[in-house]
Amino acid sequence: MPKKENKVAKEIFQKHLMDWYRHHDRPLPWKEEKDPYLIWLSEIILQQTRVAQGMPYFERFKANYPTVNDLASAPADEVMKYWEGLGYYSRARNMHATAKFISQELGGQFPDTYKEILNLKGVGPYTAAAISSFAFDLPHAVVDGNVYRVLSRYFGIDTPIDQTIGKKRFAALAQSLLDTNQPGPYNQAIMDFGAVQCVPKSPKCSHCPLQDCCQAFQENRIQHYPVKSKKLVRKNRFFHFLVFEFEGFTYIQRRESKDIWLHLYQFPLIENDQFIQTFSTLQAHENWPSWISKQYISDWSLSKPFKQELTHQRIHAFFFTIHLKTAPEDIPAEFVIADKENLTKFAFPKIIDLYLKDNSLYLKLL
Ligand code: SF4
Repeated sequence: MPKKENKVAKEIFQKHLMDWYRHHDRPLPWKEEKDPYLIWLSEIILQQTRVAQGMPYFERFKANYPTVNDLASAPADEVMKYWEGLGYYSRARNMHATAKFISQELGGQFPDTYKEILNLKGVGPYTAAAISSFAFDLPHAVVDGNVYRVLSRYFGIDTPIDQTIGKKRFAALAQSLLDTNQPGPYNQAIMDFGAVQCVPKSPKCSHCPLQDCCQAFQENRIQHYPVKSKKLVRKNRFFHFLVFEFEGFTYIQRRESKDIWLHLYQFPLIENDQFIQTFSTLQAHENWPSWISKQYISDWSLSKPFKQELTHQRIHAFFFTIHLKTAPEDIPAEFVIADKENLTKFAFPKIIDLYLKDNSLYLKLL
C-alpha cells in the first residue's frame, strides 16, 4: 500500500524536484517560448516521439510556418511531407485542421484558457495542461508517461495507469503536487526528471535526490512501476506492394481508407493474412489490379522483407518490382503516374521510405 500521499511527502517531493531541476534544466528550443502556437506545435510533434527525433521537425515547421496562419494556408500534401518519418500521421492531419480552425474561426488568435485549448482537435488533457501552463502560467498539471512513472515509483502506487481509476488517481495526485506559483517550470521539471533521471530502464537511483523518500527504491521494486493491466498484443499484417515500372514511371495512390497512414502515398497494395510465396498466386489474388493484365509484364523481382512496428500492429512488407512491356490503359483515377526519380516529393509511410532508400540486390526471377 502506498504510504506517502500525505502533505509532508508532497512538499518534500516538490522541493527536491525543483532543486534537481535548477541543476538539470535541459536547453530545448521551445522551452523559453511563450508563443502558444509554437508551444502547441512542439507538443504535438513530441507526442509519442523522442525529443532528439522531434527537434528537427519542430525547427522545420517553425521555419516554414512561423505563424498559425502560415500553417493553415499550407497545402495538405506539403504538411504531410514535412511530417514524413515522424509516424502517427493523424497528429499532422489534426494539427493542420486545428490551424485552419484557429486561423479562420478565431481570427488567428490562439485560445488562452484550458477549456478552450482542450477543445481543439488533437489536443488531450496532457497537451492542454502543457500549453496552458507554459504559455499562460495557468495552474494545470501535466500527466504523461514520464509523470506516471515518476509518481508511481516515488509514491509506490500499484493502480494500473491504463485504467480509468488509475488515470483519475494520478491526475488528482499530479494536480495536488503542482507548484501553482510556477506551474510551467514545475511541469517541465517533472517531465525532465522522468526523461533524464527516473528513466524506464536503469533509472539513476544512486544519484537521485528523491531516493530517501522514494518508495519503489526503498522496497527495491523499481521495475514493478508503473503498473499496466493489459499486455500489448500486436497484430501481424502482410503487405505486398506492387512497384510497376514503365519507362521510368510508376503508379502510386493516396491512402484514403480509415486505416493506418491516412493521406500518405503507397504503391498498389495487396494485403493478405500471410506472405504470398509465388508470383502466380499474387497475380491470381482478388485484389490484383485489374488494369494490369498478365501480358503487360516482362519480368519482376522481389525485395527482401521490411518490417515496421506500430503500437498495435506489426507490418511485414514485400515489394515486387514489376517491369511492364507496355503502358497500361484505363488506369483508375485514384492512381498517380509518378516519375520514379521524383518520388521524394510525395509523403510515404516509413516502411516505403526504407524500401526506397535500400540498395540491396533483389531476387531476380522470371
Ligand atoms: Fe526514480 Fe530511482 Fe529516484 Fe526513485 S530513486 S525517483 S526510482 S530515480
